[in-house]
Amino acid sequence: MSFENELEQGRFYIPECLACKKLVWPPSEFCDGCNEETSLRKEEFKGKIIEFSRQNEEYFCMVEFGDSIRIMAKMIALPKKDQIVKISKCGISEGSYFFQVI
Ligand SMILES: [Zn+2]
Repeated sequence: MSFENELEQGRFYIPECLACKKLVWPPSEFCDGCNEETSLRKEEFKGKIIEFSRQNEEYFCMVEFGDSIRIMAKMIALPKKDQIVKISKCGISEGSYFFQVI
């Protein structure tokens, strides 16, 4: 299963290089460091809120996974900087990835 197939099913698995174990982002079948194949690391990743902003009744957070993977995610509750969160919902909508964290 590819990253996008899993994401469509609501699962957030980051590709990991089979050779050097680097998490590869943006998602790819090949490592951007050593060019070897990747496979999806099937774990529940925890991320850290780097910053956030409010838009109407929702919050949008910049969440960092590992040391360099950053995504934008929606959050219902009031976020705190450096808060550790996990993905509660994700998918693909109109061609774009979307994420929600709790
Ligand atoms: Zn690699």
